[in-house]
Amino acid sequence: MAIRKIVERGDSVLEKPCRPITDFNRRLHTLLDDMAETLEEAGGVGLAAPQVGILRRVCIVEDSEGEIIELINPEIIETEGEQTGLEGCLSIPGRYGIVTRPYRVRVRAQDRNGDYFEIEDEDLTARCFCHEIEHLDGHLFVEHCDHLLSDEELQQYIDDHPELYDREEEEE
Ligand code: ZN
Repeated sequence: MAIRKIVERGDSVLEKPCRPITDFNRRLHTLLDDMAETLEEAGGVGLAAPQVGILRRVCIVEDSEGEIIELINPEIIETEGEQTGLEGCLSIPGRYGIVTRPYRVRVRAQDRNGDYFEIEDEDLTARCFCHEIEHLDGHLFVEHCDHLLSDEELQQYIDDHPELYDREEEEE
């Protein structure tokens, strides 16, 4: 396993659509293992392959129990409700915006061996599914917010939502 470099906004690799995975081989497994290690190092809850410079439809999400979910060729097949909250991205370090997402999301994907499965989750993990899967089509969360919060606005938001602040501390 190895830690890979996370590319930052401005790099065109983040704006391109990714190609599907067709070979579920050792190279894919190495990518997934490296992405998990890179995510852990970075202290985030999700990472998509283009963020490490690979234009393939692969992403990982850490759920509320701390388990890493590997999604190959994922698609959102059902959404329910709505949530509005703070969102950030490892490719836009230290900056956050307010983004509205579905509250509950159902995803169909393949695992590292190519087997199809469906997974459903809510709240932060659902937000993360949407965010990571969008990366695979070259989209960033900033497209969903009118501006990124200034330090003062971020502090104000955290002061107004102490429950979110506690939750984020736990994620680190
Ligand atoms: Zn991101």
